[in-house]
This record gives sequence, structure tokens and C-alpha cells, in this order.
Amino acid sequence: MNPIYAAMGTTIFEAMSARARETGAINLGQGFPDGLGCEPVVEAAARALRERSNQYPPMPGLIELRRAVADHYARHQGLNLSPEEVIVTSGATEALATSFLALIEPGDEVICLQPLYDAYAPLIQRAGGVPLYARLEPPHWTLDRAALEALVTPRTRFLLICNPVNPAASMVGAETLAGIADFCVAHDVIAICDEVWEHVTFDGARHLPLIGFPGMRERTVKIGSAGKIFALTGWKVGWMCAAPPIARVLAKAHQFLTFSTPPNLQWAVAEGLATQDGWVQDTRHRFQRSRDRLAEGLKTAGYATLPSAATYFLSIDLAGSGIAMDDRSFSEALIEAGVASIPVSVFYAETPATHVVRLCFAKEDATLDAAIERMADFR
Ligand code: GLN
Repeated sequence: MNPIYAAMGTTIFEAMSARARETGAINLGQGFPDGLGCEPVVEAAARALRERSNQYPPMPGLIELRRAVADHYARHQGLNLSPEEVIVTSGATEALATSFLALIEPGDEVICLQPLYDAYAPLIQRAGGVPLYARLEPPHWTLDRAALEALVTPRTRFLLICNPVNPAASMVGAETLAGIADFCVAHDVIAICDEVWEHVTFDGARHLPLIGFPGMRERTVKIGSAGKIFALTGWKVGWMCAAPPIARVLAKAHQFLTFSTPPNLQWAVAEGLATQDGWVQDTRHRFQRSRDRLAEGLKTAGYATLPSAATYFLSIDLAGSGIAMDDRSFSEALIEAGVASIPVSVFYAETPATHVVRLCFAKEDATLDAAIERMADFR
């Protein structure tokens, strides 16, 4: 067995969802919306399954989907990508794995921002890379350029950034992004940008892609997810965008990892990107209302929460709530009380405990209300 896996448990998202399935706890742990997702896209997938080829699609993805992704980013983010610069993947996690396998040379250092999504460090290490961590601190989770500079060595090659940030539910602002771009250019660093939450933003805030900043067009891998855009997380359809010299190498790694992604889902996502901007907009507003409903309910129940500017997540500040428990003990006790959550310490490489617990609010009102009631009783 590879030693990386020897000491590793099951990802918290699966562990918590499995326990919720077994116990009937309300699952506000793993981040997924309830409901069937964007119906026209689901219909398009069913239609494509019957009417189009079910054999291998082209390895880098259907050209129709690659074009739809490029058009989507031109429309929403002012980017000028060609379809050849887009490679379709089986979810954003495959895009991350592919990027690391393709680009990392043994011993290369990857600067990561902590808290970080639990898949990142194991994937980097398995690809031979060395993750280094710059910390973001609650409640504002801001990044300090000096913290990045302090990590630079002659082996620094990559910066991995998730923006909007899971689990912090924050967005990295224009000024910080400009500083990051400047940093990447100054140190000849490639940025790998997990931007799967780019459309799940609230209060009128707009996502700014790092690839659009000066000097970044040629040194960025931009990763996106149809699952997040259309509330179809189980589909695992994603993509990575990069300038041709990088995209060519990404394709080489992708071809021997998954080779391709189910063609009917690709057709459906292409159709969705072309026709469902209104649905995406409405859904953003619906999630914002759900965020506010959960925040209000928790406040009334005596919990202090951290700001949530994006993603499906709202976090409880245990210390601010006057709860003298660490995040793991709290999550453990809370699932016994019928609500699954995610302790934010799982997003740190070397922090044994935090006082922050993440909840997913992308649920029906009745589900949120029931969870709030259980959490009020639990206090
Ligand atoms: N991205 C999801 C979350 O943060 C989890 C995805 C998964 O479980 N693979 O909850």
C-alpha cells in the first residue's frame, strides 16, 4: 500500500453522510443541495441517453461542451478562452488530480491556503509534490501577501487556491487577487484555481477569476464544475481551462486517468450552459434566502455564526456562541442529536481542533427548520 493511505481514514464527507443515512440525522454535512437539480438539464441528459451515441466521446470532451464552457466564461467573466483550452473532466476532483499528475515534478512545492479542502494535500503528495500552508484566520479569512512570501523556496512551483473558499464561505477580493497574481509572476508560479463555487455567490458579489488578472493567462489552470452550477453534484462533470502549452500536458494525464466522461451528461451540460442562466440566477437567490433562514434560526437558538458570502455553507463559531467544546466533539454530539455537520479542523493539515463547525444550507425550508429545532433543543 502507498504509505499516504496507511494512516488515512475515510473522507469526512462520506463518513458523515453514511452516518446520516444510517441514523436518519438531517444531513447538513456534505455539501449538496436537496432536490433533483436543474430540471431542463436532467431532461436533456435523459434525451441524449436515448438519442445520441453512448460510446466513448472525444478524450478532451465533446467540442460542443468545450465551446459552451468557453462561451459561458466569456459571458460571465469576460474571459477569452478558446474551446481547445477547455478539457472536460469527471468532476473537479479529477481536474485537480489530473493537474497535479500532469504538472508536478517530484519535490515541487505547492503553496496551499489553509483551511483547505480535504482532497488537496493527499492528491498533491501522491503526485510527488510537497504542500506548504499559508493560514487564513476567521472571521474574515484574509490572506496576507507576506504569508505567501514567507513560504517561497527555490522549489516553489505552484499555488493552489480555492475561491470562493470552501469551507470559509468567503470570497478572495480583487486587491488580494491582484497581489496573488503579482506573486505568481514574480516567482514564476503556476496557479491552480478551484473555482467550483464561482456561481454560488451572494449579496450581489461577483466572482473574479484569477486567470483574468495581468500575467495569469499563461500560468493558470481554472477548474469549474457543472455539479455546482446546476445543483447536480452526483454527476461529477467538471472541466479545466488553461493556455495551450499547459492544456496539452493536462490532456496527457487526463487520457490515462478517466479518458472521458459520460457523453449524455456532457450534452446536457452543454445545453444547460447555453440556456439556463436564468435558472442559475434564481437558484443563487434561493440559496441566499436559505442562508439567511439558517443564520436567523441559529441566532434565535443562541448560536453565533460567521459571515457567508458564497458556497453552500454557513459556519457556527463555537467560542463566540459560548460553547466550550472543540469542533469535533461538537459535531459528534450534534449528530447524536440528529444533525450532521462538518468540523472545520478536517480542513487543516496540522490543527488538532478548531472552534468552527460547517453547515450546508442548500436545503428545503422544512429541512432547515427541522435542523434548527433540533439544534435549539441541543443547546
Ligand atoms: N465539496 C463537497 C463539500 O465540501 C464534498 C464533495 C465530496 O464529498 N466529494 O462538502
